Amino acid sequence: MARPEKVSAGSDPRETSRQQVVSVIRAAGQIARIDIAQATGVSPATVTAITAEMIRAGLVEEISPDSAPATSGRGRPRVALRVRGAAHILAGIKISHATIATILIDFDGTTLSEHEAALPKARMTPEVLTELIAETLGAAAAETGREIGDLSGLGVGISGVVDEPEGLVHWSPTLTRRNVALRDMLEAAVQMPVFLDNDANSVAKAEQLFGEGRGVRDFLVVTIEHGVGLGIVIDGQVYRGTRGCGAEFGHTKVHLDGALCRCGQRGCLEAYVADYALLREAAVTLPGLTGDTPEERLDALFAAAHSGENTAQSILARASRMFAMGLANLVNIFDPGLIIVSGERMSHDFLYSDEVISMMQTQVLQVDAPPPEVRIHKWGDMMWAKGAAAYAMEGVTELAVRRLNDA
Ligand SMILES: [Zn+2]
Repeated sequence: MARPEKVSAGSDPRETSRQQVVSVIRAAGQIARIDIAQATGVSPATVTAITAEMIRAGLVEEISPDSAPATSGRGRPRVALRVRGAAHILAGIKISHATIATILIDFDGTTLSEHEAALPKARMTPEVLTELIAETLGAAAAETGREIGDLSGLGVGISGVVDEPEGLVHWSPTLTRRNVALRDMLEAAVQMPVFLDNDANSVAKAEQLFGEGRGVRDFLVVTIEHGVGLGIVIDGQVYRGTRGCGAEFGHTKVHLDGALCRCGQRGCLEAYVADYALLREAAVTLPGLTGDTPEERLDALFAAAHSGENTAQSILARASRMFAMGLANLVNIFDPGLIIVSGERMSHDFLYSDEVISMMQTQVLQVDAPPPEVRIHKWGDMMWAKGAAAYAMEGVTELAVRRLNDA
């Protein structure tokens, strides 16, 4: 299956202009040709030629001046352009430890349907996962009266270490094997381009296109789920590292010879703040904690802390201090304009309380400029899935624009 190579400075300048034009239209929602020229630095004549091709190919459409917002001043209202939603349908899937969330969006990012199913097991072989994803995708398409063949691309967000350009999962808590060429397996099963990425990167993509990161050039997304993830956006691009191992915030070290982490090393941030770490601590210091499942015991721990139980409170307080230290380290390395803390479960509020944020602020390098803004953005699996779909939307756009070149 033809894969979009990354658009680089060395590629065809006309293609680079086309990719810039479509990104600007997408980011703006709707925009006049002259404003596209201004935003991209591409000449107005070239913008006219490029947008004409895109209109012919059905990727972009004109909005009649009647339906566009009134322009101020005199003169003819300018015709605006927008991405044509009906051009393509994209799917996004987020695999979490208990569920598989699927979203279908159209080419302008409008949500068409949402579908959620239970995962039979938290860990499985790549073959079983591939089959499950194909089945789920078929069911999600059928719910909207469509077939898998009506979709143009699939984005998948999975936790673990993902080599995105190679479509390789080095390691994932979801998979029983290491170094799995999961993207190729999925493409063979669903017969469409698949865009596979680490799930924290999917969230960063969703924040950039639909959320708090819109219009922000440099920002970090810290995700709190069962582990701690990080998405890094630098200069408008998701930064992935060389081996796809970058942004493993959960495995940055916060303690010398510290607590044992699931990764096999000691002193990782996750070994203090992840669910399993809280429960491990509670098993030693709070043996009275009841509950048959880890979730029930975790709920009991949070309830005990809320009711003022000292030991429970000190477990959460230690996790909070570690988390604040981790955030301060990030700020000192990246100096981002914005940190988005993205978590789903209300129970983890203690990790992004005002107290934690001010603790972090006292540990960052003090200069005569305000520390980075921290925004809390709570969203569920469906928004992670939307991030994966957004990634597919970008990939399919690149492919579609490349096809204009070939035409
Ligand atoms: Zn670790």
